[in-house]
Amino acid sequence: MGLLSKDVAIDLGTANTIVYVKGKGIVIREPSVVAIDRYTGRIVAVGNEADDMIGRTPENIIAVRPMKDGVIADFDITQSMIKNFIHKANVASVLKPRVVVCIPSGITEVERRAVEDAIIQAGAKDVALVEEPMAAAMGAGLPVNKATGSMVVDIGGGTTEVAVISMGGIVSSQSIRIAGDALDSAIVNYIKKNIGINIGDKMAEQIKMEIGSAYEDNEEGVFDVRGRDMSTGLPKTVQVKESQIREAMKENIEEMIESIKMTLEHTPPELAADVMERGITLTGGGALIKGLDKLVSEVTKIPTYVAEYPLDCVALGTGKALDDIKNLLAKTKIR
Ligand code: ADP
Ligand code: MG
Repeated sequence: MGLLSKDVAIDLGTANTIVYVKGKGIVIREPSVVAIDRYTGRIVAVGNEADDMIGRTPENIIAVRPMKDGVIADFDITQSMIKNFIHKANVASVLKPRVVVCIPSGITEVERRAVEDAIIQAGAKDVALVEEPMAAAMGAGLPVNKATGSMVVDIGGGTTEVAVISMGGIVSSQSIRIAGDALDSAIVNYIKKNIGINIGDKMAEQIKMEIGSAYEDNEEGVFDVRGRDMSTGLPKTVQVKESQIREAMKENIEEMIESIKMTLEHTPPELAADVMERGITLTGGGALIKGLDKLVSEVTKIPTYVAEYPLDCVALGTGKALDDIKNLLAKTKIR
């Protein structure tokens, strides 16, 4: 058994990396974060452990997110991170694993090659690529191979990818660099400007997950925010309201919806009609923003659904692509 080469799918996300092993399912789900000793360059921690260090490290240790906007920002650190996850997944024993990894739809040839090289240098025997929106749609259980239009909107940390898929191909797509991270920054800025408190990105993300919402309803959640008072320089706790956070995120969310509308405008009428009828599916961590589905369906007049496991869709879809790994590898090698 140990002599069989393993097939592995990797969702190398800006915020989270997920590793799926054929026959097992998802075995690793950790933040795409690496902690490094600034002076020696030595890697101190990877994944969850490194993430816990963000904002809490002594001066010599920095926590780095080596993926940015869906592509590799730091090659060596990304490669070490992948190596660590492959090792943890316990798939590199005797024979090297074959890997399928997903990439955003709009990236350059150079960016693609960097992903391939990083995976190979991290210890893979072969690597094949699948496009992220396709993986997201497959993972959400959409009928990607049928002659009908399916729309998927994947909102991750760095990018929001919108795509219409039909007969196994992406018919039209858009990728914008506004997603979860941008929402966090918007919350930091709003609280600085309107409340006079400085908070970190992590605190902003926590606020977003707890009380962030896109659509006004009767509820008004509150959150006790801890930060630094800008006038006294001292720590302070203030209460923020759901409506304030909605206001903070408003502009970015409008841009996401604009991108959905643009993609629909560039979709052939028959397929757009399919989408009108079958609806829009939201995936990625951003799909969990409360009321986003409701807002999207109100603005677009198209029924909108959140996928069952939004954070796992891309990994599950890339995992499904493993069934076709021979063809995918052949295609990758021809390029
Ligand atoms: P990526 O594929 O880029 O790694 P993910 O699909 O894993 O991204 O999503 C991560 C993003 O989703 C982060 O910005 C995170 O803050 C956000 N997120 C996760 N859970 C929630 C939630 N419950 N509400 C709002 N945003 C969330
Ligand atoms: Mg993703």
